[in-house]
Formats: sequence, C-alpha cells, structure tokens
Amino acid sequence: MAKVTLKDVEKVYPNGFKAVHGIDLDIKDGEFMVFVGPSGCAKSTTLRMIAGLESISGGTISIGDRVVNDVAPKDRKIAMVFQNYALYPHMTVYDNMAFSLKMKKMPKDEINKRVTEAAKALELEDLLKRKPKQLSGGQRQRVAVGRAIVRDPEVFLFDEPLSNLDAKLRVHMRVQLSQLHQKLKTTMIYVTHDQVEAMTMGDRICVLDKGNIMQVDTPLNLYHYP
Ligand code: ADP
Ligand code: ADP
Repeated sequence: MAKVTLKDVEKVYPNGFKAVHGIDLDIKDGEFMVFVGPSGCAKSTTLRMIAGLESISGGTISIGDRVVNDVAPKDRKIAMVFQNYALYPHMTVYDNMAFSLKMKKMPKDEINKRVTEAAKALELEDLLKRKPKQLSGGQRQRVAVGRAIVRDPEVFLFDEPLSNLDAKLRVHMRVQLSQLHQKLKTTMIYVTHDQVEAMTMGDRICVLDKGNIMQVDTPLNLYHYP
C-alpha cells in the first residue's frame, strides 16, 4: 500500500504534442482513484507515466516516498492490468500467473502459494491448467488481474480493463474488482471513459480534459455538483 503523488507533471510526446499540462494530484494510501474523461484527454498517458512505461517530461511522480523518475522499472512495486489482457497464449493459466515470479527467481513454494491464493480469490482454481484460448473473456480478465496480484504490488494500475467485456460481465467484474479492493486495501488507479463505472467504483474520481485536471472529488460530491 502506498500513496501516489503527482507534482506539476507534464508529458510532451517526441512529435512536440503536449498531452499533459502540469497536473497535481495526491492519491491516498489504499485509495481507489478513477481517471475519467473523453478519449484523448490523457488518462492512459498519465497512467503509463505512473507505471514507468512512458517517460515523464516535467515534474515528479512519487510512489510512497520514492520518486519514480529515479527508480528503475524493475524495482517499481506496481502492477498493471491491460485492456487486451496481454496473456501469454502458449502458457497455462498457472504459468501466466507464475511467470513474473519465476523471472524473479522466487522459490517454487512461494510461487505456488501466491498463485494458489490469487486463483482462490478470483475463482480460477478449476482453470489453472487451461490455456487462454480455452477461457471466456471474463475468465481471461481475471487471469490478468491474478497475474498482477501475485506480484504483491504497492499500487495496482488498470487501463480500461473491462471495455472488451459484454455489458453483463462488465457489471459483474466491477463488483469483483471493488470487492478485491476492499479485501486487499491496496492503492488502485483505474482508467475508464465510462462514467457509470467511475461513479460506482471510485473512492474519488479525477476528471481529465485535454491533459488538465478539471475536478477531483468523491462520486457523491461530483454527482451533486451544480
Ligand atoms: P486517453 O487515454 O484519455 O484516450 P491518451 O493518453 O491515449 O488519451 O492520449 C492523450 C493525447 O496524447 C491524445 O491527444 C493522443 O492523440 C496523444 N498521444 C498519445 N500517444 C501519443 C504519441 N505517442 N505521440 C503523440 N501524441 C500522442
Ligand atoms: P522483474 O520484475 O524481476 O524485473 P518481471 O518479468 O516481473 O521481472 O518484469 C519485467 C518488467 O516488466 C519489469 O520492468 C516489470 O516492472 C514489468 N512488469 C511485469 N509485469 C508487469 C505488470 N503486470 N504490470 C506492470 N509492469 C509489469
């Protein structure tokens, strides 16, 4: 669990386009923060800078008391869940979840413990021997979340994780992810263009527009905004 702090953060892409215009944001320890706004408002760019997948052009981002600009990507305690799941197609569900831990040379017992616990929490226990193509969309998304959980990150980042699911599954997964947050109490940052998703899932919502923060507030206060 860790707070995430953005101070005057800017992003200028190599073509000269300024996508993020000096934003400030304090995300609390254990908070579920949602970034919402129309396509192109820089939700994904901001999330990717926090993840270390995109360079920061100006300002600083801190996770806990460490400035991420100075921390090598492999030492960052974050895990990201992508819209397209990004599962390894040739590996089983178990191996997909175990892979990053094997790379870290974690002892087998510990890997087994973590994968088993995550599979239980996500109701994947009966699917561990399957390959991704033998899973439904919702099951694949749960494996992607499981792969993030086993890393035991300080911060979870979600980039439109439910947008490839049908409406019914989306509602189901929203509830599952909210329950997961209540259980783990880990800081989560969640990007979506879906306002209902933002309202139902966020402790607070950060509304972005053209690379600026318009509002940051609880769903209740935003909803009652005049
Ligand atoms: P969102 O996630 O809110 O849809 P993005 O963060 O993907 O928005 O993009 C924010 C803005 O930055 C958009 O105007 C987009 O066209 C632009 N952008 C994204 N990636 C690049 C890039 N590699 N080079 C130049 N501009 C980019
Ligand atoms: P290590 O963490 O030992 O460097 P990994 O295979 O776990 O090895 O990760 C390789 C790189 O990919 C690291 O920079 C890590 O931070 C990043 N990475 C792996 N999985 C994820 C994930 N789910 N979300 C974000 N970054 C990840």
